[in-house]
Amino acid sequence: MTRVPIAGGWPAGAMRAAAVVSPNVAKVIDLPIPEPAPGEVLVSPLRVGLCGTDLELLHGTASYVRDGRAPYPHVFGHEWVGQVVALASSGPTGTGGRISVGDRVVGHTMISCGDCRACDRGRRNECGRLREVGLYGQQGAAAQYLRMPARALSVVPDDVLDDAAMLVEPAVTVLEGLVQVRCAPGDRALVIGTGTIGLLAVQLTGRLAGTVDVVGVEDNGLAAARRMGARQAFHPGEAPAGHYDVVVEASGAAPAFHEALRTAGVGGRVAAVGVTTEAVDDVHVGDLVLRGVTVHGIRHGLDQYDRVLQLFGDGALAADGMIADVLPLDRVGDAFRLLQDGSRPAPKVALDPRAA
Ligand SMILES: [Zn+2]
Ligand SMILES: [Zn+2]
Repeated sequence: MTRVPIAGGWPAGAMRAAAVVSPNVAKVIDLPIPEPAPGEVLVSPLRVGLCGTDLELLHGTASYVRDGRAPYPHVFGHEWVGQVVALASSGPTGTGGRISVGDRVVGHTMISCGDCRACDRGRRNECGRLREVGLYGQQGAAAQYLRMPARALSVVPDDVLDDAAMLVEPAVTVLEGLVQVRCAPGDRALVIGTGTIGLLAVQLTGRLAGTVDVVGVEDNGLAAARRMGARQAFHPGEAPAGHYDVVVEASGAAPAFHEALRTAGVGGRVAAVGVTTEAVDDVHVGDLVLRGVTVHGIRHGLDQYDRVLQLFGDGALAADGMIADVLPLDRVGDAFRLLQDGSRPAPKVALDPRAA
């Protein structure tokens, strides 16, 4: 685990941050260190994971870029672990003593407003005035410092190392999906996709259901899934039709959504975790009705952070075999190139904002 000496006090001046500055161009820039705000803390990120959403931000294809919510320069980074370096203790919403300087923390990607109809009803996931860290309305973690509301942080236990804590953000969505589809012992379960979300889903679904099969297009991804407990590994079209009680669609490819519907059995529950960017044509809704198949769109696992941290601490989830490389901030271009290399040895590519 990484620890830095804490000097105390909220630093001021300039900091380095990795940003998308124009379509397909990411580089390190100087920005002012965020100023103290009531109820907020300053975090020094230790690991920042990159995913397909960051690639969409890089390419300018993300909806946040196209609709103007993510202007340039855009500091990305929504999957992270960091260490608290300063607290803004004044103001009406202090940290309540829950967060201390020196704590390692992970942060919620979705920051709810706390004040809208959905928030009032305890449904933060459905807040109408969300900000999302590294996506829109809130600077991302690919920087020397990140300011976060204390209420959007979870403290990382000592037995969860930095690499595992970085994977908590993608894992909360997986757990939320498995909760929504009521995955239980004895379920016949299938995971589609062998990226970060798919491999985390293989690990967790295997624990909850007892066994899990996997569908993927990359042979090294299928081999990784087997090492992580998948019983059978299939290429698309090979898994038995109408067989599974629980299907986790974790690839985000439109054909994979058809594969999920094809393999779900009578009464099957599909967790759609991958986000297809194109329309899924020719879905036979009547067939789904007659088979009683339910499809759950999984928005995010906002309420699952502490449970996922415990799952990593208990060893039910592990970072082994998940991370291809960890690069310093100024090699952000190389990091994005590796993320687009289908032959990389593991799905996750990370930045270390403290590395020289
Ligand atoms: Zn992500
Ligand atoms: Zn709200």
